[in-house]
Parts: sequence; C-alpha cells; structure tokens
Amino acid sequence: MTRGIKNILKAIGVYYPLLSYYHSRKFAARNRQYKKEYQQYAGSGYLCNVCGSSYSRFVPDLPSSENKNALDKNQVIAGYGEHILCPNCMSTARERLIIAYLKDKVNLEGKKVLHLSPERKVSIYLREKAAVTTADLMPEIYMSIVKDVQRQDATKFTFTDNSFDILVANHILEHIPDDRKAMREMYRVLKPGGLAILQVPYSETIATTIEEPAINDPAKQSALFGQEDHVRIFELNDYMHRLKSVGFIVELLPQADIDHYAIHATQPGEKLFVIRKP
Ligand SMILES: [Zn+2]
Repeated sequence: MTRGIKNILKAIGVYYPLLSYYHSRKFAARNRQYKKEYQQYAGSGYLCNVCGSSYSRFVPDLPSSENKNALDKNQVIAGYGEHILCPNCMSTARERLIIAYLKDKVNLEGKKVLHLSPERKVSIYLREKAAVTTADLMPEIYMSIVKDVQRQDATKFTFTDNSFDILVANHILEHIPDDRKAMREMYRVLKPGGLAILQVPYSETIATTIEEPAINDPAKQSALFGQEDHVRIFELNDYMHRLKSVGFIVELLPQADIDHYAIHATQPGEKLFVIRKP
C-alpha cells in the first residue's frame, strides 16, 4: 500500500480498524494452516501452557531479511526462533514464558493489573483472575484482540499514583524514545511492593545500549535495531541499571526456573526480569 493511500485511510479513521481486521483474519488463516500442517508432530515434546496441546515442534518465526542483520550481528534475544508459535492456539514463546512465570510464582486473585499493548494470550490469562486495565498509545491496533483498550501514553499516564499491583508491558520500552520517563511513570502507578514484567529485546554482547531516540526512518531502524519501529537495542546490564535508576528493584529469575519452563517452548536464552517497586 502506498504512503498516500495509507494517509487518506488514516485521515478518515478507517486505516487501523481495517488493519486490525486484516491481521485477525490472517491470524485465523495461519492458525488453520498450522493446525493441519503440524498434526504430524502432535502428541509429545513441547507442552503449550495456554491451550494444553503437545507437539514435538512448534512453528518457527524468523526475522525478515531487513531485520535479520541487526539482530544477528548484535545477538539480540528478540522473540524469534525455531519453536515460537503453538500450532494449535498461536501463543508465542514470549507469551508462554510470562504465563509460565505467572502461573508458577504470582497470585493474581483479586489483583489490579495494568496490561500495556495487550498481547492476546497473556491478556486472556490475566483476565481469568485479575481486574485488568488495558492500555496502549494506539488502541485501534488492538481492537480485534481486546475491546476495551484505553488510550494512554506510557510517558504520561492519567492513572493516579500507586494504582496497580502488577504491570505487564511486554516488548514496549524499546519503542519509546524517552524510555526512562516511561520507567518513572510505570514506577509511579505501581503500588509499593508491586510487580512489573517489562520484557524487552536485549543483547549481552554489545558494549552498551545502541539507540537513537529521535529516529523516524523505518528502513534505518530495521538496519540498526532489527525492527522498523524500535529506537534501541538494550544491553542487558544497562537495561537493568536504567530500571534501578528510577527506583525499581531488579532481579533475573533464577536459571533453574527458566530451565523448568523450557518444556513450554520458551525462547532459548531469554531471561525474565523480575522488577519490583520497594
Ligand atoms: Zn497452544
């Protein structure tokens, strides 16, 4: 689609609803195809902790050629790999890691949760037990996934201080130019003792975070950061340092737990940041 047509559709307010509808249809079609195709692998091996199905392989999800270079060169843990999508329910590896952690360690009963950019399966899981508020800078994008997404800018929430027990923002901070401002806001709206799950793509091999917060050039963003709408690649320790600098206590979930969750086809090498407001 040309940029001109895109802008016209945006101006009359139908671009994002159409996009959302298109993605949901495509999602359903892919799901039907994988269910058939992966029948031969069904029965044992990896266990999806969303739908309960087992398969000896899950569906790979590999980066596009535009994004691959930056991800490979910087060895970014970014959610791509060989066993990413559950053929039966289309949950992703990064969703299954969070769900495994929540099931294992977090009592959601009666909790107030803020879920930003709500991913389908995580959203469904949270809503089974907790009181969930969903929000995004562009709620239109999520209209085929969750109906009641509020419009919120993560650098200036309209929520009052100490509003939520838990905040989930999976792969958000790498998109936000002023990530420290967003971290301060996330800290502010969490209750003391509250838990934040803020997974991001990161590298352990780069010297420091690579970023260009003011960039607005999708081709260059793909080449530099491995996705057309990212503004940085976090270096692991620097990421934790930034979170600590706004007041959070940050720990990595012990490797034994991560290993324990690997049965759910989580991404090899992905760590889980356990982030708390003291
Ligand atoms: Zn599944």
